[in-house]
Amino acid sequence: MTSKTPITPDVITIPRQLDDNILPNIIGLQRKALANALNEIGTPAKQIKMRTAQIWQWLYVKGAQNFEEMTNLSKDFRNLLVQNFAITRPEIVTRQISKDGTRKYLLRVTGGHEVEAVYIPEKDRGTLCISSQIGCTLTCTFCHTGTQKLVRNLTPAEIVGQILIARDDLDEWGKDAGQKRNVSNIVLMGMGEPLYNTDNVRDAMLIAMDNEGIALSRRRITLSTSGVVPEIIRTGSEIGCMLAISFHATTDEVRDVLVPINRKHKIAELLEACRNYPKLSNSERITFEYVMLKNINDSDEDARRLVDLISGIPAKINLIPFNPWPGSGYERSDWNRIEAFGDIVNKAGYASPIRRPRGEDIMAACGQLKSETQRVRKSAKQMAEEIKGQ
Ligand code: SF4
Repeated sequence: MTSKTPITPDVITIPRQLDDNILPNIIGLQRKALANALNEIGTPAKQIKMRTAQIWQWLYVKGAQNFEEMTNLSKDFRNLLVQNFAITRPEIVTRQISKDGTRKYLLRVTGGHEVEAVYIPEKDRGTLCISSQIGCTLTCTFCHTGTQKLVRNLTPAEIVGQILIARDDLDEWGKDAGQKRNVSNIVLMGMGEPLYNTDNVRDAMLIAMDNEGIALSRRRITLSTSGVVPEIIRTGSEIGCMLAISFHATTDEVRDVLVPINRKHKIAELLEACRNYPKLSNSERITFEYVMLKNINDSDEDARRLVDLISGIPAKINLIPFNPWPGSGYERSDWNRIEAFGDIVNKAGYASPIRRPRGEDIMAACGQLKSETQRVRKSAKQMAEEIKGQ
């Protein structure tokens, strides 16, 4: 269990200096789009391939933040780039560092909106949890982000920009693919439902996976969906990343309340899509995330039903002790209840690690992300009561 000792996180506030640039952002373009853009500004046809590769390397291997740094480009060509493009990344508003090393970034994107990204260091690696939307249209009742109204989808530049910002902060530029990395894994589990923004998420992940750039393997990227069934197969075929399902309940009655998209795509339909996931195999299992909510979804009966439901799907179950947030109305299951649940799942042959809460002192733990915009909605407590009453 986590310590209840009061913790003062290290908070750095960076002064506001966003200057929305009217020039198109060169970050976030696919290679082909970059080549086309260079062609349009008059780059000699013979040079386009080479210039594309050079700029790509500056942006995604060396982390260049302005065209002046691109010293292997002629001064005239750099001037041409300056006149036609900007290198625009999200701006860090605050960076909080938890006692356990977790870093939470509040980032400002075009229009002055804010999103969050969280870096979770581990022994030989580290995972960056990134956002795909500003706010979320879904209202999963255990999730703090779900109380924040959707503003808009993030662009590919804003999604990949979160990775660039973390690499800046962790001093990670210039390492080649073989070296130990701080940001070794990406999870799309921050703000938003990635499969309501599939095209932009795909384009950003294709940049992150490009072997001559950030070069993250597709197996080190995990996309978590609450169950946007029609987009699941595309995720496998167009991104090829690992899939996680924000599952959390074993009956439609309970899931309808906890994860309301279930009212549209029921558990059976969701699991059918999982069974057909293109990359599914014993070495590429689907992760089912299961937040442990006291007296809501944590009984032995739930554990047994879960095992029956996922039967035949190569899977791992991540048990997530609920991270309370102000007004959530839910309680974390007792530790021995979580262990008993995990035992049943484990004995049925599924790995069921209990996720250790990280960054709780800075509200960076799973389901706690939320930027400043607030909206009033039915309290989770009311929802919990509805479940009990059903
Ligand atoms: S769990 Fe994900 S999909 Fe559900 S409200 Fe939170 S951010 Fe949105």
